[in-house]
Amino acid sequence: MQESPSNTTTISIPKLRADLEGRVIAPDDPGYDEARTVFYGGFDRRPLVIVRVADAGDVSRVVSLARETGRELALRSGGHSLVGHSVSDGGIVLDLSEMKAIEIDAGRRTAWAETGLTAGEYATAAGAHGLVTGFGDTGSVGIGGLTLGGGVGYLVRTFGLTIDHLLAADVVTADGRLVRADAESNPDLFWAIRGGGGNFGVATRFQFRLHELDTVVGGMLILPATADVIHSFVAAAEEAPEELTAIINVMAAPPMPFLPPEAHGKLIVMALMCYAGGPEAGERAIAPFRALAEPIADMVHPMPYPEIFPPEPEDVHPIDSVRTMFVDAIDRRDAETIVEHIQSSTALMAAAQIRVLGGGDGAGSGGSHGVRTPPESLHAERRRDLRATRRRRRVRALGVRVRRGAPSGRHRRVRQLPHRRGG
Ligand SMILES: Cc1cc2nc3c(=O)[nH]c(=O)nc-3n(C[C@H](O)[C@H](O)[C@H](O)COP(=O)(O)OP(=O)(O)OC[C@H]3O[C@@H](n4cnc5c(N)ncnc54)[C@H](O)[C@@H]3O)c2cc1C
Repeated sequence: MQESPSNTTTISIPKLRADLEGRVIAPDDPGYDEARTVFYGGFDRRPLVIVRVADAGDVSRVVSLARETGRELALRSGGHSLVGHSVSDGGIVLDLSEMKAIEIDAGRRTAWAETGLTAGEYATAAGAHGLVTGFGDTGSVGIGGLTLGGGVGYLVRTFGLTIDHLLAADVVTADGRLVRADAESNPDLFWAIRGGGGNFGVATRFQFRLHELDTVVGGMLILPATADVIHSFVAAAEEAPEELTAIINVMAAPPMPFLPPEAHGKLIVMALMCYAGGPEAGERAIAPFRALAEPIADMVHPMPYPEIFPPEPEDVHPIDSVRTMFVDAIDRRDAETIVEHIQSSTALMAAAQIRVLGGGDGAGSGGSHGVRTPPESLHAERRRDLRATRRRRRVRALGVRVRRGAPSGRHRRVRQLPHRRGG
């Protein structure tokens, strides 16, 4: 009988270096601490080895090594896992962050992109051709994890989820084989990776459809938050043309330099706006939001699409608790609940994020993502000052209150997502 591999099986670092094209980083190497650091704080894990793979051949060899030795395998693309999945204690980290090749076929409007690219890097490369694929709201998030989870971003109401534009993927499966997944080849695998997360193999590159989009009207619009303003903001976002996507954060104003000192600590709507079209139509689409209250700050302006991802501070590793769910609507009572919840918070930073979805035909292109026509998504976040269990409880409470808040007789569909973090 074959013995099952033990997780104490030794891995020879010199042999691994000789076998692989990419970089092998062991605990005694310079750069080890930087290489084991992920976006979120609170994960002080020490992998046995980190392999910055160079190509699909390396990926296959590392997957086989994990299988043969029984060592835990953690995959990392952009390192933004909310639950620390991309770093392992005592296992192997397969780090794709140096696989950043991108081939753009501007004529056919398609791109093959390796999964070590971030959303911002992809946007810059595609933007040079006046083309886009929609990812999330943050440039440093990896296209690997984001795409496999569905991808909800600045262009969701215009073009749909990221997976709606995924045409094919190259995937290394658990037996170390490199296979193509698309509508014709391995269609089950193709279905699974469009929303099923990172459980079906290592995606080494994706083929995406691109859309023509040069300039957007986007940026931050900050208004004082009352229940009326929040409710009207959501209603305006629902009624807006499909070219407009709004990400609405309700929070106490942090002491940011572009906010007047008297606003600091006050409840605000910090909305991230993106109109996928020209300046005049964009101004018209944004006008109803500006009219809701005297803006505290208005940084919405025409810009090349890649600028929607501003530079991010380096070496910031927050510890967050996040809960995400889909709801049919955010009504006036929900808005009051959000105001009460955020105002009564003693956290360093507490926020509720509402993303108005809908738009498009809602049909998407299939795949395993659970939600096709969600009108709204609500993320509750609370950060940094409470102990983990209290943070989790407080974050969950907002979701529960919004869910219970449905007026009697009205059907409220709530879908709880696995997208949650209690660190
Ligand atoms: C600041 C921030 C903003 C965000 N904004 C958005 C947003 O606007 N929209 C949105 O949809 N999501 C958003 N997210 C969630 C984000 O999409 C997920 O956390 C995603 O998993 C991160 O991808 P990554 O490659 O950076 O993460 P990683 O930590 O590198 O990967 C996370 C996990 O995904 C899987 N995975 C990653 N790459 C591969 C691969 N190539 N093959 C197989 N499995 C893989 C693995 O299981 C891995 O452990 C945000 C997250 C953060 C932290």
